[in-house]
Amino acid sequence: MNPKLKILPLNDWIDTEGMPLVISGPCSAETEEQLLKTAIQLKEIGKVHVLRAGIWKPRTRPNDFEGVGEKGLEWLKKAKKSTGLLTSVEVADANHVELALKHNVDILWVGARTVVNPFSVQAIAEALTGVDVPVMIKNPLNPDLKLWLGAIERLNTIGINKLIAVHRGFHYFEKSPFRNAPMWEIPIELKRVAQGLPIIVDPSHICGNRELLESISQKALDLEMDGLMIESHHDPDAALTDSAQQISPHELKELLENLIIRNRKGNIDFQHKLEGLRTEIDKLDGELLQILSKRMEIIDEIGEYKRNNDITILQMKRWAGIIKDRLAIGTHMGLDKFFLQKLLHLIHKESINRQEDIFLNEGN
Ligand code: PEP
Ligand code: MN
Repeated sequence: MNPKLKILPLNDWIDTEGMPLVISGPCSAETEEQLLKTAIQLKEIGKVHVLRAGIWKPRTRPNDFEGVGEKGLEWLKKAKKSTGLLTSVEVADANHVELALKHNVDILWVGARTVVNPFSVQAIAEALTGVDVPVMIKNPLNPDLKLWLGAIERLNTIGINKLIAVHRGFHYFEKSPFRNAPMWEIPIELKRVAQGLPIIVDPSHICGNRELLESISQKALDLEMDGLMIESHHDPDAALTDSAQQISPHELKELLENLIIRNRKGNIDFQHKLEGLRTEIDKLDGELLQILSKRMEIIDEIGEYKRNNDITILQMKRWAGIIKDRLAIGTHMGLDKFFLQKLLHLIHKESINRQEDIFLNEGN
């Protein structure tokens, strides 16, 4: 995966004065009064750069509140006029794009349910041909980095170079304290493969509740993410959508004030010490790789020996014994049990793969 993206740095087109980008506003625009009241309170905080509001809401069931539609775009215009905040809405098709542009919305975003469908993303991209408007791309519902990147590429290919990826977590079937599991490794990998692409985090849709918003926001900043999108409402309990996760502008102010904005680099002394520690890590990683490679060589020998003697690859008793023994030793050494389990399973899977290859190549 080596996308050739042409992306403008965030601060080339939006001035956040060296602070993380903060986008906030209601999940849905409900009434003119609600949107204006929320926007004015957000402006008063002084830390919000962009006002967000859903106008067309993707709902799971047809009779839920599906957004106010085009008239909400007029309210956004009024909110912009009275606060000076930039505005942002979700678009899910070419018609939404046309209406949002007609009403001078400053930034568009493509939601998680739309990003899963390349036909929809392509239609949105084509509706934006020749238009210079920033677009935010949420991650798809499922943890599929290629699909997320694909949507970013589609928009970039038609000429949109003011792009932001929005990490809003992923559907997950196991029990979790989150509405959508953060799976930080995915946005981190996106950061690695699409260097220079701004990535912000949407703690509201990750958490699904108010309590975890601050810790997820802090984690986002500690992982070098470029900003936050947090849902807010002047009266969160009365919100028509996502009520449990919305906070008041006042609560948002407190949350933002509590966040620690750490340095990305540090001074010379820090760099020196870090370099020293990293050299040790490099050496240990080298040793780890050597040990792994040696282990796999012995696995190959075992594979050949089993094949020549017509013995099955999987030896359940031995495998169960390894798990038990290594977990006991590893946890005693301070390693996390779940980490060890994952690691041992990964090594075991590779050992089986190698033995299978040896069995398949019998006689060669
Ligand atoms: C939203 O931002 O209100 C929204 C619908 O988000 P997502 O697409 O991430 O579910
Ligand atoms: Mn929402």
